[in-house]
Amino acid sequence: MNDIFASLESEVRSYSRTWPTTFDKAGGSWLYGEDGTPYLDFFAGAGALNYGHNNPRLKRKLIEYIERDGVTHGLDQATAAKREFLETIDEKLLKPRGLDYKVQFPGPTGTNSVESALKLVRKITGRESIISFTNAFHGMTLGSLSVTGNSMKRGGAGIPLVHSTPMPYDNYFDGQYPDFLYFERLLEDSGSGLNEPAAVIVETLQGEGGINSSRPEWLRGLRELCDKHGMLLIVDDVQMGCGRTGPFFSFEEAGITPDIVCLSKSIGGYGMPLALTLIKSEHDVWEPGEHNGTFRGNNPAFVTASEALKLYWSDDALQKSTIAKGERVGQVIGEIADKYEGAQAKGRGLARGLGFEDPETAGKISKAAFDRKLILETSGPQSEVIKIMPPLTVSDEELEQGLQIIVDSVQAVLA
Ligand code: PMP
Repeated sequence: MNDIFASLESEVRSYSRTWPTTFDKAGGSWLYGEDGTPYLDFFAGAGALNYGHNNPRLKRKLIEYIERDGVTHGLDQATAAKREFLETIDEKLLKPRGLDYKVQFPGPTGTNSVESALKLVRKITGRESIISFTNAFHGMTLGSLSVTGNSMKRGGAGIPLVHSTPMPYDNYFDGQYPDFLYFERLLEDSGSGLNEPAAVIVETLQGEGGINSSRPEWLRGLRELCDKHGMLLIVDDVQMGCGRTGPFFSFEEAGITPDIVCLSKSIGGYGMPLALTLIKSEHDVWEPGEHNGTFRGNNPAFVTASEALKLYWSDDALQKSTIAKGERVGQVIGEIADKYEGAQAKGRGLARGLGFEDPETAGKISKAAFDRKLILETSGPQSEVIKIMPPLTVSDEELEQGLQIIVDSVQAVLA
């Protein structure tokens, strides 16, 4: 890699260290180094590239839009591109699922959506505290960081967890205690200081937290608990939404309806920043100007987002193929887990993971895969989980190629 990165770029960088190549081009499931070396990408922008790199059909729409001088920057002005996006999301996503949400554009990235949700639930309920979960990840700004269960991410800055309380995520105690026992006790104990939280924020499958999937019955129990105690339910679908687990929304499988949904990453379709906060209509109590931001309406991203919804969510083909491909990944990682003690197969849909007992093993496997030209991220509290998240548009052939590299890399490190 060129030394300029080491000499000029802040020490905060991490991916450039994990994958020490300068990438220059990308297409579909592939990234290409400057020397033309192809790398199979099973990282997919941490879930931002569900439709692959430079998806040709989305690219065409974007080029057409730019060539006809479509509005690029528009704050929250009404634009034709935004109108089309709102119509498309209503027609392709909300109406078919019987969902009655208002769409807010909270800022360019996932954390902006989480921040707006955290602000809004306090305004709606007049309460202050927020319940989050162990190993949760919700973003890097102060509010979202305060509900993120990873102290390293606080960067030594000592972000206080005032008004935010982490609860055990599904299966935290390996089934030793009934679900929500601790949570319910605290809610019912008037001395706990926790009797009136404004909301619960949850990922149905924790991506950064180590590919921890919650059970549908646990999510239904959480919905019931929220209703019983007047708490709103925020589902953070920033990483697991847009079809990553199969259905468009990761909570669909559980049959629950959150009060607020946070979306970003793949919603723009083309890897461009776009975030949405979906708010149940009855909870849309925002006044104009209460949540501003210069980059709140990314019009080129509206164009690719609308096209992606039309291309991939007019029928259930992508959902079905994601589930089928995910099962194939599940089969291969299941075999790995059976073969190597301490290895654990995790996840659902095309959000899969291989957990190991220590971060060194996961790091070595990720490196062995990179040497074999496959890009795999690690996640989990200690980075001890290999994350397997190819674009949903990955071909069967590419999937098999990547899986073989995973098998070979595990073998090289653990044999
Ligand atoms: N929520 C979840 C579940 C995420 O995975 C992420 C990003 N990894 C975020 C929020 C924050 O999104 P962004 O990095 O776009 O701010």
